[in-house]
Amino acid sequence: TDACVVVNGLRKRFGPTIALDGMSFGVRPGLVTGFAGPNGAGKSTTMRVILGLDAADEGTALIGGRPYRDLRRPLCQVGSLLDASALQPGRTARDHLMWLARSQGLGARRVDAVIEQVGLRTAARRRAGGLSLGMRQRLGIAAALLGDPPVLIMDEPFNGMDPEGIIWIRALLRSLAAEGRAVLVSSHLMSELQDTADHVVVAGRGRVIADASVARLLETA
Ligand code: ADP
Ligand code: ADP
Repeated sequence: TDACVVVNGLRKRFGPTIALDGMSFGVRPGLVTGFAGPNGAGKSTTMRVILGLDAADEGTALIGGRPYRDLRRPLCQVGSLLDASALQPGRTARDHLMWLARSQGLGARRVDAVIEQVGLRTAARRRAGGLSLGMRQRLGIAAALLGDPPVLIMDEPFNGMDPEGIIWIRALLRSLAAEGRAVLVSSHLMSELQDTADHVVVAGRGRVIADASVARLLETA
């Protein structure tokens, strides 16, 4: 298989809670792969394990054949949108991106390019604490795009987005995949993924309950 993210048999417990119960799927380059399922299905935990932020009790999550921690320049190889809790509210959005850029050896030109790409030109000069949730999502997406990574992991990017933002992010995700990137995007709403993803992995209770093209999923629904 040519999948560049391969999740195989992940199991994880938090005390008595079984978060992952044999989660397995692949994410291919050139496609938007939706990761659907109700709250608590294990989507975030899977993404955190892929990104090395959480350890699984069993199983593997590989990116281009390696675990995240073994990637040579991880931030340039995998862009991610998790929650924006790392934002320092007193700094401007642009300062935040400059700080992240420096840690990847990137400069102000790249920062201003991603600010433009996510439509934050005016908001980038405001303090991050005053940004709406939709703007903070755009800022998180800008951070994910900084290193121009071939793999993007986006956890609930539609949260807090207004209708215009939802249309914008759909087009963005599709163009990122059309350029050959592997894009994994989670949502608890199938409707958000239906018009965005080529392929959907449906999770339930810590495992995959369907894994098919959107066309096939809609046929069998
Ligand atoms: P989803 O992203 O699909 O909503 P999660 O991966 O966030 O699902 O959660 C899967 C299960 O694991 C849920 O029952 C959740 O409450 C539990 N869980 C996730 N993270 C933690 C944690 N840090 N501590 C305890 N339980 C957790
Ligand atoms: P300073 O805050 O003086 O720039 P450092 O650059 O050493 O000091 O940052 C200390 C820590 O604060 C970093 O490891 C990071 O976790 C956090 N941090 C610094 N700048 C930012 C920023 N712009 N956005 C988010 N976190 C930051």
